[in-house]
Amino acid sequence: MRVSITDIVDQPGATRPVQVAVGVAEFGPEPWGSAEGAIQDPVELDLHLDSVVDGILVRGTLAFTLVLSCARCLEPLTVVRHVTVAELFLDPAKRVEEEDEEEPGYELLDDATAIDLSTMVRDALIIDLPVRTLCAEDCQGLCPTCGANRNRTDCGHTPERPIDPRWAALTDLDLPND
Ligand SMILES: [Zn+2]
Ligand SMILES: [Zn+2]
Repeated sequence: MRVSITDIVDQPGATRPVQVAVGVAEFGPEPWGSAEGAIQDPVELDLHLDSVVDGILVRGTLAFTLVLSCARCLEPLTVVRHVTVAELFLDPAKRVEEEDEEEPGYELLDDATAIDLSTMVRDALIIDLPVRTLCAEDCQGLCPTCGANRNRTDCGHTPERPIDPRWAALTDLDLPND
């Protein structure tokens, strides 16, 4: 997602808000890590572009809507994540020679007329992704015996002592009696 900066670049102190809701496709074809397929349209950007001596500082909040599965009962659930970002897009023409060139970071593009927010947005979401989501803190999950969703039905099975799956196969063994 490219944004023109011609009105503020090289004018330290100049600032411009970017408040838009954009489709996921706007951020290009690169993968979204484990958010692939879960991320919904639109992604909401509430940013400020601040012109600084070295380039453009991008600050603000991103709002992502994700459809994930509950880690216990596997029901789909909608999660909205708000992620704070603050990234400097450097003007490559002003890069100091001894700076670490192995980590170029974000740069102004096309003779310092534009920035591309796609990588920043993608990285911000991937870092923020919840490792494990639950539909509710007290989600009862699935019955290990019959697979019923125990939030919805009481199948009558007692979950206290599920058979350890490592030993379950042994109950089917026909051991010789001698
Ligand atoms: Zn659940
Ligand atoms: Zn059951």
